[in-house]
Amino acid sequence: MARRKIIAGNWKMNMTPSQAVALCAELKDLVKSDSVDVVYCVPAIDIVPVVEAVKGTNVQVGAENLYIEDKGAYTGEISAPMLVDSGVKFVIIGHSERREYFKEDDAFLNKKVKKAFEAGLIPILCCGETLEQREMGVTMDWIRLQIKSDLVGITADQVKSMVIAYEPIWAIGTGKTATTEQAEEVCKGIRECIAEIYDQATADAVRIQYGGSVNAGNAAELFAQPDIDGGLVGGASLKADFGKIVNY
Ligand code: PEP
Repeated sequence: MARRKIIAGNWKMNMTPSQAVALCAELKDLVKSDSVDVVYCVPAIDIVPVVEAVKGTNVQVGAENLYIEDKGAYTGEISAPMLVDSGVKFVIIGHSERREYFKEDDAFLNKKVKKAFEAGLIPILCCGETLEQREMGVTMDWIRLQIKSDLVGITADQVKSMVIAYEPIWAIGTGKTATTEQAEEVCKGIRECIAEIYDQATADAVRIQYGGSVNAGNAAELFAQPDIDGGLVGGASLKADFGKIVNY
């Protein structure tokens, strides 16, 4: 069965609530599509207005983070039940910015993946190597370690429903995209890793995105690769270009 492409925007820490609503209005007609899933992953404070703004459209809403507990004395955190109750369907877990700036390690991210599934959210699990790791030739070893650690205790059926985003750190926000061959090679490697941990049916079902300076000019070639099932898009998701990426 062919995998349905999924194009997700990662707004990061951009867009005040009123700017978010204005962006939804600007993109509304541009991101219309019957053939791909479209997701806006937005800052927590934008979730409620964005869910309202995209009502009746093909756009689904994702969060950029969640906490591992359902409630309690965790000042400043947002729980999975809060996200679900607000209309969120997806959640980004393990973005390299969270791994780097907030020191989130794989054991913690594994708890987040479990919590997302427990609440009924679909994780978009990010992985990716640094430029140094790529130059040392350990890209696939590193990514296999991330995937294996982050998926401890996750069932095959859960993996079939989730999304994995391959995002080489050196390509994020740098304007430097991985070549189509580099992106496909790693996405294929991730699928092989899933087949080893689980089975071929699970590997065939999981959707694997590429992320890292995706834009209107390179999306079509990247998304045409057999193991790339769409993209996680940062900078270009905040402008009209996102419509061109969705309709690549
Ligand atoms: C991202 O933040 O996940 C990302 C890929 O950013 P950009 O598209 O700006 O490189």
